[in-house]
Amino acid sequence: MVNNNMQNKPFSVNELREHFPILDQQVNDHPLIYLDNAATTQKPIAVVEAITHYYLNDNANVHRASHQLSTRSTRSFEAARETVCQFINAKSSKEIIWTKGTTEGFNLLTHVFAKQLKSGDEVIISTLEHHANIVPWQMLVESIGIVLKVIPLTAEKQLDLAAFQQLLNTKTKFVSVAHISNALGIINPVEEIISLAHQVDAQVIIDGAQAVAHLPVDVQTLDCDYYLFSGHKLFAPTGVGVLYGKQHLLESLPPWQGGGEMIKSVSFSETIYNELPFKFEAGTPNIAGVIGLAAAIDFLNSYDRKMLMLHEQMLLAVAESSLLAIPEVSVFCAGIPKSGAISFTVAGEHHSDIAMLLDAQGIAVRSGSHCAMPLISQLNCSGTVRVSLSLYNTLAEVNAFIKALKEVISLLK
Ligand code: PLP
Repeated sequence: MVNNNMQNKPFSVNELREHFPILDQQVNDHPLIYLDNAATTQKPIAVVEAITHYYLNDNANVHRASHQLSTRSTRSFEAARETVCQFINAKSSKEIIWTKGTTEGFNLLTHVFAKQLKSGDEVIISTLEHHANIVPWQMLVESIGIVLKVIPLTAEKQLDLAAFQQLLNTKTKFVSVAHISNALGIINPVEEIISLAHQVDAQVIIDGAQAVAHLPVDVQTLDCDYYLFSGHKLFAPTGVGVLYGKQHLLESLPPWQGGGEMIKSVSFSETIYNELPFKFEAGTPNIAGVIGLAAAIDFLNSYDRKMLMLHEQMLLAVAESSLLAIPEVSVFCAGIPKSGAISFTVAGEHHSDIAMLLDAQGIAVRSGSHCAMPLISQLNCSGTVRVSLSLYNTLAEVNAFIKALKEVISLLK
């Protein structure tokens, strides 16, 4: 939810950048311009300090001991769950399951869904999904014989909702789509997709990996059944992520991995599984990562998120209009609402050459298929150059990127 707390600091990009010392460095004798935020975001000092503080003061395993350090560690760990619960407006912290990231969230879900799916059941994904939302389902096609259907794109490269309605039927068990496309940056109409899927009693999984850092997410308003994201795309460390699920659905699912923490009692005659959320959290979790994720959310919430979004939207609008003004550049999904990223190609040039030559000027962008190979083959190209922005990027950086890109293009001609 957008935090309108009156305590919020006024937004100044220069002040904000001071929290990210990594940005203040030279790369290839140029000031670093980091435009690869869809791959991973940089971490503010507060996140690094929260992790350091944990290891220097409180390090102990959670939930398992009655000593002071374990009590402190458990308190911070469970407070972090509450922070995430409020951040996405879940009804209860029992609905927040820690994972390693979005990919693990999909693998957890598809493994437990496998127990209730049968041959001929249908699952719908879309053309523009990340491989994390394709391959685990394909594994269920192989192992169970489910039918995987794919929402096509319109001529404008948006999800074709009319075609989606044609795919939906009473055999559809799950619909799983990205909130924001990591390759194109476009915002998908997830509210409509969720409501249409619910009309045939299908459950909906939203891949929020690219959305959480850019949009306010309210899982109750969305009414999605599951929502997945990774901490590292939200200014938190790698190796920690979140699976949100509606409580009654999570309760109805069997556990995934077995081991400590996910059980209430174990004997050779009967093992009783633990309650939510622990039922899905076998083994020692990434405690420091979880604490870092809460610190990242607190950091984000210390600003007025509406101001952050306006800043990002302004950068994106300038980047898109400047790219469109370069004759050799083709921008995908120009004019379509986006958040975070823009993808483009340069006529006659390979995407990786563009990215390499930009890197020579200290500008970090991504090139290739962005873990979305089926989409890239539909776009009839070998890959794109993706520029992905975050709240700490500046207008000067966007302008420097455009200037550098023009130079790269004239060098290659
Ligand atoms: N889904 C989307 C839309 C993504 O952008 C990514 C990462 O780029 C993932 C899933 C996978 O996230 P992770 O590698 O953090 O598990």
